[in-house]
Amino acid sequence: MVPFVDLKAQYASIKGEVDTAIGRVLESCQFTLGPEVGAFETEFSAYCGATQGIAVNSGTSALHLALLAAGVGPGDEVITVPFTFVATVSAICYTGATPVFVDIDPQSLTMDPTQIAAAITDRTKAILPVHLYGQTADMDPILAIARARGLVVIEDAAQAHGAEYNGRRAGSMGDMGCFSFYPGKNLGAYGEGGMVVTDNPEFTRTIRMLRDWGAEKKYEHVLKGYNYRMEGLQGAVLRVKLRHLETWTQARRSAAARYDRIFSGSGVSAPIEMSYARHVYHVYAIRTQRRQSWQDALQQRGVSTGIHYPIPIHLLPAFADLGYVEGQFPHSERAAAEVLSLPMFPELTATQSAEVGDAVIALAQESRACAATA
Ligand SMILES: *Cc1c(COP(=O)(O)O)cnc(C)c1O
Repeated sequence: MVPFVDLKAQYASIKGEVDTAIGRVLESCQFTLGPEVGAFETEFSAYCGATQGIAVNSGTSALHLALLAAGVGPGDEVITVPFTFVATVSAICYTGATPVFVDIDPQSLTMDPTQIAAAITDRTKAILPVHLYGQTADMDPILAIARARGLVVIEDAAQAHGAEYNGRRAGSMGDMGCFSFYPGKNLGAYGEGGMVVTDNPEFTRTIRMLRDWGAEKKYEHVLKGYNYRMEGLQGAVLRVKLRHLETWTQARRSAAARYDRIFSGSGVSAPIEMSYARHVYHVYAIRTQRRQSWQDALQQRGVSTGIHYPIPIHLLPAFADLGYVEGQFPHSERAAAEVLSLPMFPELTATQSAEVGDAVIALAQESRACAATA
């Protein structure tokens, strides 16, 4: 049996450190924000190469507050991609603004910068690229268009802790970068969590207020804010886990390299690491036109897989009001139909990756034999 992710293996490897950190919070009774969260903000923003970090209670909250700090609201438009997790687009809707989609690049599966110019109107306020699967979008051309047109760039780096673009860290290239610490992410809390990182003190000040009821000082509410505070326990756990993140990222990259070696020359369509990228493999997705049968067959052989994501956002019933139709974003639609995420976590052993790889290769050979006789 190869699970899709294995959070128990990771806890077992850091149990002593985590239990001590949790004990410290329980003794201090600093259950929300507090010194552990403050220290984690300093440590994680430094890890990202940003000067400021504002911890919140989810990646979705991070996106919501980054958009609000950028002044995005009703009547505005925000350019993003339809091939992402729903939270990217929902956060735009929370502000009252309208999401405007552009298609992805078929190799990187991230925002195609050549599509942006045609999507800009005089209502456009921000561009929200998504660093999907742990690989950054092609940021230089995105930043160039944004600068030329006076637009804010907010990175959805929820899947990209420690990913790099030509040596720059995810989250530090745009005006703000948003991270999720959902348990299954590369840096996962034992509960929910998120952070905005930025170099901009004005955005920092606004987001610090908005996450805690818009208060400048206790009971002096200068903005209509939210209860988006990070819990003390999550800050303490995340500080412990951040110390291991580089090791875990290297382990993910090694696991991906093992898959790549098994698939090379086999006809299996493996993910592409762009020349600009350090991919951190939150997800390792192959592509196949026989996804359903491959997923079922792998499950029968004891290999659990996932699909990230089966329906592009513009075709989801929840977003029908945006008025998009099938065929408008062909690369997103095709990716949504073909991607299949293989087991990927730092503790994945060489034996397990070989077992998965061999099972996939066998399916590819069967599919070719079927195609030849059809
Ligand atoms: C996980 C995720 C989010 C949302 O983060 P939460 O912490 O679950 O709210 C946003 N965008 C992307 C691309 C994600 O993968």
